[in-house]
Amino acid sequence: MKIGLAKIAPLRGAWITTENVIVLDVDLDQANCNATLAHELAHIDLKHHAHQAPAKWFAIRWEREADDLACDRLLDNVDEIAEAMALHPQNLDMASDYLEVPSDVLWRRLTRLTNAEKLLIVERLDRIERAC
Ligand SMILES: [Zn+2]
Repeated sequence: MKIGLAKIAPLRGAWITTENVIVLDVDLDQANCNATLAHELAHIDLKHHAHQAPAKWFAIRWEREADDLACDRLLDNVDEIAEAMALHPQNLDMASDYLEVPSDVLWRRLTRLTNAEKLLIVERLDRIERAC
């Protein structure tokens, strides 16, 4: 597999199966470049391209599945998420910048937290609140 950069906006990335290459838009910033690569790799790992999308019935679902796996991989450390939220309370964009991911990736990850992960973050934020 190869990874290449090219001017492909408005696309952010694409996996060209016949060439076995992932192409990323050359103008993406680092956070969006990482997120797009993680998304394309998720498609490969989920074997989405092994099937012909049946008349696009599953296209939206496959995009969501790839986004979910990509955000879980990009933000796999809950302590880091808690740190970002503690440093930048109520500011999704600044917390995202701290984590070096696009804000939609952090938002998606926050919606996917397990109860145990939520508890860990809330306890962390409570400790800071009490310290102030
Ligand atoms: Zn996709």
